[in-house]
Amino acid sequence: MATVITSDCINCGACEPECPNTAIYAGGVQWELNGAKSAAISQDFYYIVPSKCTECVGFFDHEACAAVCPVDCCVPDPKIPETEAVLIARAKELHPGDPFPADFPSRFRKNEAAPPASAGANGAAAAASAQSAGSAPAPIAVSAAPAELATTGVEFDPVGWAVPVICKDCQERFTIPYRYFQVGVVFYCPQCSGSFVPNSTLYKKVRATFEGFYAKRRAQREANQRKRARELELFDRKQATEMEQFAAELEKLAQEMKPAGKMVRPKGIAAMFT
Ligand code: SF4
Ligand code: SF4
Repeated sequence: MATVITSDCINCGACEPECPNTAIYAGGVQWELNGAKSAAISQDFYYIVPSKCTECVGFFDHEACAAVCPVDCCVPDPKIPETEAVLIARAKELHPGDPFPADFPSRFRKNEAAPPASAGANGAAAAASAQSAGSAPAPIAVSAAPAELATTGVEFDPVGWAVPVICKDCQERFTIPYRYFQVGVVFYCPQCSGSFVPNSTLYKKVRATFEGFYAKRRAQREANQRKRARELELFDRKQATEMEQFAAELEKLAQEMKPAGKMVRPKGIAAMFT
C-alpha cells in the first residue's frame, strides 16, 4: 500500500528531500510527473502522490519518509494495498535509466536482510536484556564515560550509539544505550544513583535526532552506491565500444597492408628459367 501523510503533520519538511521518487510535496504545491503538473492533493500539510510512491521499494528497506518524520505521521494507506511486484515496476517506470539489481532493497524483504544486532554500547546489552524481554524491570547499565559515545559499527545504524544525558541530581554526565532509551524506562546515574526517566517529548526528540541523522546518512550512502553502479556501467559500455573500435582499426590495418596491384615475379637466375 502507498504511504500517506496524516493530518498530524507539523509541516517540518523533513520527509520531502528523503523521498527517492519526489513523491512528497508541501501542502498547496502542485505535483509534477514527466513535466505535467497536477493540483495539490492537500492544501494544509505535506502530502504524498500515491502514483509516485513505491514505499521506497527499489531504494531502501524501509519507508524513508516515515524514518525521519518526528511525529510518526507517514503511515501505510490501507485503502491502497500494493504488492512488491507492483511497487518495483513503478520504481522502474519512474526511473527508466536506473539499474535495479535482482536483490533490490525492499521493506518486504527487511526481515530476511535484518542485520545482526550489534553489541550494546558500553556493554549494557546484558544488563538490559531482562527488561527488554518483558520480565521484571531491572536497572539498565549506563556509562559514566562520554568518551565511549563514538563506538565502532555505528556508521549506518543508530542502535550502537549511546544517548548523552546530564543527571538532574549531581549534574554529572552519563550515557544511556540508544536501544533502551524508551518512554518510562528508569535509568540510574552511575555517580549518585539519581533516576532519569525519558518522557514522550524527550523520547521523540532523541528518536528524531538519531533516526533523522541515520536516515539521511543511509540515503546518501545508497544514492552514492547507485551513482557508482551507474558510472561503472557507463565505464564498461565505453570500454566495450572502444574494444569494437580497436578491432575495426586492426581490420583496416590488415586491409591497408595487403599488397596492391599485380603480382611482381621475382627477378634473377631463377626467373630466367621460367
Ligand atoms: Fe517517498 Fe518512500 Fe515515503 Fe513513498 S514511502 S513517499 S517512496 S519516501
Ligand atoms: Fe509532516 Fe512528518 Fe513530513 Fe514533517 S516529516 S512534513 S511532520 S510528514
